[in-house]
Amino acid sequence: MAAGHLPPLRIAFLSEHASPAALLGGQDAGGQNVYVDEVSRALGRMGHAVDIFTRRDAPDLPETLDWAPGVRIVHVSAGPPRFLPKDDLWPLMPAFRDEILRFAVREGARYDLIHGNFWMSGWVAGELRRALGVPVVQIFHATGITKRRHQGAADTSPPERIRVETDIVRQVDRLIAQCPAEQAELVDDYGADPARVVVIPSAVDTAQFFPMDRAEARRRIGLDTDGPVVVYVGRMLPRKDVRNVVRAVALLARWTGLPVRLLAVGGEKEEPDPEATPEIGVLQRLTAELGIADRVIFTGKRQPGELTAYYGAGDVAVTTPWYEPFGLTPLEAMACGRPVIGSAVGGIAFTVRHGETGFLVPPRDPEALARRLAEVLADPALRDRMGRAARARVECAFTWQTVAERTQALYGAVLAERARPAVAPSPAAPDLTARATMVGEEVVTEFPLIRYHSGCCISPSGDLTHPGRGGLEEEHS
Ligand code: UDP
Repeated sequence: MAAGHLPPLRIAFLSEHASPAALLGGQDAGGQNVYVDEVSRALGRMGHAVDIFTRRDAPDLPETLDWAPGVRIVHVSAGPPRFLPKDDLWPLMPAFRDEILRFAVREGARYDLIHGNFWMSGWVAGELRRALGVPVVQIFHATGITKRRHQGAADTSPPERIRVETDIVRQVDRLIAQCPAEQAELVDDYGADPARVVVIPSAVDTAQFFPMDRAEARRRIGLDTDGPVVVYVGRMLPRKDVRNVVRAVALLARWTGLPVRLLAVGGEKEEPDPEATPEIGVLQRLTAELGIADRVIFTGKRQPGELTAYYGAGDVAVTTPWYEPFGLTPLEAMACGRPVIGSAVGGIAFTVRHGETGFLVPPRDPEALARRLAEVLADPALRDRMGRAARARVECAFTWQTVAERTQALYGAVLAERARPAVAPSPAAPDLTARATMVGEEVVTEFPLIRYHSGCCISPSGDLTHPGRGGLEEEHS
């Protein structure tokens, strides 16, 4: 398929620790893997060629793997070919950079643009920008200052992280923020130029995540109960604060006497192994202390294709992290037609509409969560109404196709800026600048000769409106 009015581009996606081929749900495999996978596939469908460079973490991986039409994964040898925690990878980044350069030379690959993911790949992208003269678009997925703020001494990031991030912010051509809160962080904490930060919210695969009948979903996962079920899906890390959810479920059970169950999906292994996932051990001890061990089901991690049934088995989904750069799991639950109760932080405060698609609660507040759980579970009509509104919101505003179209428009803007002569164009010359319209205005993406109307708008506060203009691309002069 043609790449709209942009010529087909050759794009290098750098993602040192997060490969699309990794199994999700473990310590270092989550939303970034999904983002790299979905955006690269969609760009491939639009006619672009994408090479995803990721670190070789097993000896038997091929150097290149055809991953999807137009998309290859390139396994870069840097450090030992086995899993290493991402916080140990920083010293390997010069080798990662050099191997990418060698690969590009060997293949005769001339990349039009580099898309950096996370801070370490952002550093490599900056190095390649200098070496190859290629523009860089950078997305951090999470920032060091926010992590330090929330995790303090428990933050295991290398000490260089924040300085390196600050340099990246200054150097790259554009930054992608996944929600207005992240945009504000980049501007306020890192001094980013607001004009160079584009908000492109991430998304969910609405075909893979769909509303499933509750009883059918429970049958599929072997959950034998008619009672209320609260579902959590995500990595099992202290900052995700599943402990808060466990405490809230204990309060709920005590206050209401409901036979409520908590389904907790995630971990390093397919079984809930407290040795492999210490946080599961902590949570199991907590459930025992609170007398609700029989109400909480830890499943271990599940693959994306299985998750619809897990979300669908729940009456309501919860996620109450201390902070969340974006948060794909609330969107997945919404796509499955389930209301979400989430902490009012980061991307969750943007994706979940308080009172419409679920509720926002303060983090670290089990009572507030328990009260909202009680409210939703006591009122099936409210639960169903919110679930329908959640699905509608996702369909309108959070699809990967829209993310890829806006990303493509951003690439177009960056490339047009580079190509523009230093002298002012004559008044007769057409303006060939592609513009990626940011959140806060109508969701319209302008290519040189084309406009894309998503059919809905999102305000900075996350409100959706429908200007009534249909969703397809159209020619304009
Ligand atoms: N995930 C999964 N299996 C699991 C747990 C999580 O596939 O057992 C996926 C989940 O569906 C989501 C991603 O991992 O797509 C987590 O992304 P999110 O943005 O919610 O959080 P992150 O892990 O990036 O902090």
